[in-house]
Amino acid sequence: MPLTRIGVAEVLVEHEDVVGFLMAEESRNGRTVALPAWKMTTGDRAVADGVLRAYGGVRRTRGDGRGYDCMLRCDSIAIRVNPRVDITNHLVLRKGEDLVRVCDGSVLLHLASSSGALCSCPVDAFERRAAARAGTGPKPEVRLTFELAEGPELGRFSLFSSSWELADSLRRVLPGTDTNVDRVELVLDLHRKQFATRSGLDVSIVFPAAASLPSK
Ligand SMILES: [Zn+2]
Repeated sequence: MPLTRIGVAEVLVEHEDVVGFLMAEESRNGRTVALPAWKMTTGDRAVADGVLRAYGGVRRTRGDGRGYDCMLRCDSIAIRVNPRVDITNHLVLRKGEDLVRVCDGSVLLHLASSSGALCSCPVDAFERRAAARAGTGPKPEVRLTFELAEGPELGRFSLFSSSWELADSLRRVLPGTDTNVDRVELVLDLHRKQFATRSGLDVSIVFPAAASLPSK
């Protein structure tokens, strides 16, 4: 899979059967900003209305006139995925447009010359995030393609995220790559946390994470 560019446009090219994008973050002036609620973007009015029937929320016509943004009222979205083909969960280091390194936190991936070699990521989760913030270490790039458990007839959706919590939780809840499971049901949850900074400012953060559903 080409990993040299990121964003909705690339995902759209990769998955032409995708009818909409679920987002917990968006890019503003080159910075990734968390959204206050799940946003579903689609070019299809019937898909937008189906999503709003299932989860509640508000539909807006996009500023560029190309489709609709739905801000969803529901924080928990149950999805169905094939864990072997519908999910990539990598740590990626980029310099501008250039891809420097792709790994899974322990071994290098993707770059043929070094694939399978141990990577230099710190074992400690806190150090990993600090290295990513400093621009010296990779950060998560998670891609999911899925059906909505509440509306499989609407079609397939896609999500791209750079959330550490989503990347870490997916590693916990997905079956190992040595299993033959070809469909799992997961819940994507938006979590909200409030805390006070040292200077006494109240800050709230929102982030996505995945949880498993009991199998039926
Ligand atoms: Zn690594």
